[in-house]
Amino acid sequence: MARSPASWKGDIGWHARALCVGEDPELFFPLAETAAGTAPARAVCRRCPVLLDCRDWAVRHGETDGVWGATTASQRRALRRAVLDR
Ligand code: SF4
Repeated sequence: MARSPASWKGDIGWHARALCVGEDPELFFPLAETAAGTAPARAVCRRCPVLLDCRDWAVRHGETDGVWGATTASQRRALRRAVLDR
């Protein structure tokens, strides 16, 4: 069963302010990682007050599935490569 990013119960203080709390988790784990498939989740993320914390966490922890911080998994892989290649 898919979890929304906000349902993650780790040591992340920003979780309490996540805008995806209460959203359908399936929204954040679309079957296809296309622009259209991820657009609804990214629209929520763009209004979220913890977008940068969420994105940073997902990149640093190598989160491989779903939309986190308005990014897709492939976008996060590219960000991670850019950071690690410095
Ligand atoms: S940026 Fe998106 S995925 Fe991250 S906490 Fe906010 S709404 Fe949830």
